[in-house]
Amino acid sequence: MDMDLLNAPVTVIKGIGQAASEKLATVGAVTVNDLLNYFPFRYEDRQAVDVLTAAQDDKITVVGLVQTVPVSQFYGKTSRLTFKLLTGQNLISVTVFNQNYLKNKLQMNMEVLVSGKWDRNRRSITASRVQFNTQVDERNRFEPVYHLKGDLQLRSLRKWIELALHQVQGQVRETLPASLCAKYKLTSREEALRYLHFPKNEWEVKQGRRRFIYEEFLQFQLKMLAFRKMNREQFAGIAQDFDQQQIDQFTAELPFQLTKGQEQAVADILLDLKAPQQMNRLLQGDVGAGKTVVAAIAALASVTAGYQVALMAPTEILAEQHFASLQQLFANQKLQLPQPVQQLLDQDQLQLALLTSSSRGKARNEVLAQLESGELHLVIGTHALLQEDVHFRQLGLVITDEQHRFGVAQRKVLQDKGTNPDVLFMTATPIPRTLAITAFGEMDVTVIKELPAGRKEIKTRWVKHEQIDKVLAFLLQEVKKGRQAYVICPLIEESENFDYGNAVDVHAQLMHYFGDQCVVGLMHGKLSSAEKDQMMQDFLANRVQILVSTTVVEVGVNVPNATCMVIYDAERFGLSQLHQLRGRVGRGSEQSYCILMADPKNEVALERLTIMTETNDGFYLSERDLALRGPGDFFGHKQSGVPEFKVGDMVQDFNILEVARADAAKLVQSEDFWQNEAYQCLRDVLYESGIFSGENLN
Ligand code: ADP
Ligand code: MG
Repeated sequence: MDMDLLNAPVTVIKGIGQAASEKLATVGAVTVNDLLNYFPFRYEDRQAVDVLTAAQDDKITVVGLVQTVPVSQFYGKTSRLTFKLLTGQNLISVTVFNQNYLKNKLQMNMEVLVSGKWDRNRRSITASRVQFNTQVDERNRFEPVYHLKGDLQLRSLRKWIELALHQVQGQVRETLPASLCAKYKLTSREEALRYLHFPKNEWEVKQGRRRFIYEEFLQFQLKMLAFRKMNREQFAGIAQDFDQQQIDQFTAELPFQLTKGQEQAVADILLDLKAPQQMNRLLQGDVGAGKTVVAAIAALASVTAGYQVALMAPTEILAEQHFASLQQLFANQKLQLPQPVQQLLDQDQLQLALLTSSSRGKARNEVLAQLESGELHLVIGTHALLQEDVHFRQLGLVITDEQHRFGVAQRKVLQDKGTNPDVLFMTATPIPRTLAITAFGEMDVTVIKELPAGRKEIKTRWVKHEQIDKVLAFLLQEVKKGRQAYVICPLIEESENFDYGNAVDVHAQLMHYFGDQCVVGLMHGKLSSAEKDQMMQDFLANRVQILVSTTVVEVGVNVPNATCMVIYDAERFGLSQLHQLRGRVGRGSEQSYCILMADPKNEVALERLTIMTETNDGFYLSERDLALRGPGDFFGHKQSGVPEFKVGDMVQDFNILEVARADAAKLVQSEDFWQNEAYQCLRDVLYESGIFSGENLN
């Protein structure tokens, strides 16, 4: 019975008729449950405050005495009423829009309650409400604010929620087990609903939110972890029997010693490869941390076990660069393959090839044929690897670089070219732990924290665009020392809507400035890949000293002699992206510099620039970026798989997220959880979400 009432259309509530239900449908409240779960997104505190304690833009309520006769002005249909108010010892001004009827009601020296947004600098409130009864009833002190649409009025919505709460009394099903409610002193679901919609005080708001945030995070993590557990059990992977001796030898012959983080990453990956389950690991490491060599060792391991390896990068430049690095690392790499493979192919040298959309005709066909026959051990490529006619003889390991740039579907296409191959994702975007345990919660994570020894900190400054002459003089000085520089611009060509620096113009200016003192190159996304490639080759060989470019050089590009990075319109980029760009320099032994040119127009932009000059720590930057931009924007891509929560905020409520994560992990591993009646309410969530019928989560 109880389930029925909650799942019934809102019209079962006495007092909600057809017309009301149509209005409620505009915000998606179709069933009683939907309506009760339509939570306020914030509360207005009607308790009067002292303006001196309020911060800029705070929503506040003050009590005061009207000090001037209100003046009204009209602009078309808009009216604006202003008067002065004495609150405590402070004289402030009050502005009210479109409530001109107040003019005749407001008398000199009358005491009123004013709620609105506080502008500290101008000592004024833009009021949303002026009340003549200054007694704040404790019951109404916290007024919930909902997202409203169409004809739906706040007052009606509140009435309907009240009616619904009344009618379902005693029938709201509990969704958390009693043991967890007791452990965290969480209030019942029914009471929490009342707390959120009709709080009597701040404590109730807090308790209501706390319960729902925990519930939301716990259910999400349970789905994620149950899915992972099920995947592990169902999809047997490959137990790759690699040759440790060949790996040790390769490692010993490297021109450098692996860092601790690299060693740990290699150890994690080798364990995964050997295990019969499918590897699903995310390798995070700041730019320059040395992920490529880790990928190379993973690839070598898989090859010595008799399998093929595919490495996919998001851009052609990156794929080419990985190819070049791996070619160098594997130059003359002798192989001893498991007997059957060795005999079949009669090879003793590791074979690798590049496959991108520039690979055409005969060259492409040859790569395809060799992949199919097994003669090629390692293929490095772009999306071109996903094409239907790409077949492997025995794909054992898939490595994806900067994986958040690929959609889930694309990643799956490549994996499906093998039979449950092991999967390694690499990213230089330091993913805040918050996101790692939500967006990527179904993966194992390895982080390479430190950079190889001997790197110098990149010195970062920000300057206004008007200081361009100084910046250019500095570049010239560096070029004369034999160094190279990147100059990054946000756009390719001048656009009518924006007057941001653009690569083509900047290129022309710099050519003019530097004359024949150095060669200034230009690179952007509209060039063909052959042209881009040529430009990168010229830059790498120091035939070009200054490279003006859009963000196509963003990830992975490695030119150790480049020591300067100048970024035009730096305020246009997010922190993580600025950090990525900056990571193009500081790759050699010389001191490197990053100059951010910007005229920040707001505080967030200014803060970003300041943070950039203060730290080179990518993880710290990413946490700050997340806090400044919010999770949805973090990757700047829809495909990123970052979940949206209704009540919880993964940044602000991170503590609860961690607790819920730990609880969920414990639960899915326990026998009790899968059998005991007490956990039925949580198991229901898993069954209802469809993850056991093979549908995707979320
Ligand atoms: P990223 O993690 O950004 O992909 P790379 O793999 O491109 O970093 O490595 C950056 C540079 O550091 C390369 O030139 C590489 O040869 C070098 N490198 C990698 N590991 C080490 C190490 N342990 N010691 C010294 N240099 C290293
Ligand atoms: Mg890299």
